[in-house]
Amino acid sequence: MFYLILSKYNIYTGPFSLVTFSFPSKSRDMKQKSKVHIDTYESIYPTQLVVANNAATTKQIAKDYCWFDGVELEDSDFANCLGCVIRAKRKSDGRKVTLVKINFDLSKPSKPEAFLDDIASLVHEAGHVVLDTYSYVEDRICTEVCKQEPFCYYLEWVFKCIYKTIIKK
Ligand SMILES: [Zn+2]
Repeated sequence: MFYLILSKYNIYTGPFSLVTFSFPSKSRDMKQKSKVHIDTYESIYPTQLVVANNAATTKQIAKDYCWFDGVELEDSDFANCLGCVIRAKRKSDGRKVTLVKINFDLSKPSKPEAFLDDIASLVHEAGHVVLDTYSYVEDRICTEVCKQEPFCYYLEWVFKCIYKTIIKK
């Protein structure tokens, strides 16, 4: 029970650095590896979405990206979690990106229960991406029934982007 309560945990370390984690379950094989994929997706907002799969190393990601405040990425930023979302910056042009790192592999078939957990983790991280975007553009999430669509469509798009990268072999 204690584990379940702590299984989803967010850390906000400041206005320009956001990191969020989903902690791994004991049943997950974190060692499965596919090829390295670090994909960029252009959104309708002034922030790009970058998704790195489990094979991508900190060194490979840190070559092109750092924290939004310029601090270099470290192994510990991505360690011991199923996935994390970081407010980052592309080094080449200073562009703000929301960086998603997923630490498990969906490129191979998994049992239905495990698959459900995996998908739930991706949805969880997609939620963080959407909230980071709204926070960055200083927009508010509208909860009126007839105005909920932008949030929901964007969430759907973010989830699909993350999923597309994570299922790549
Ligand atoms: Zn979280």
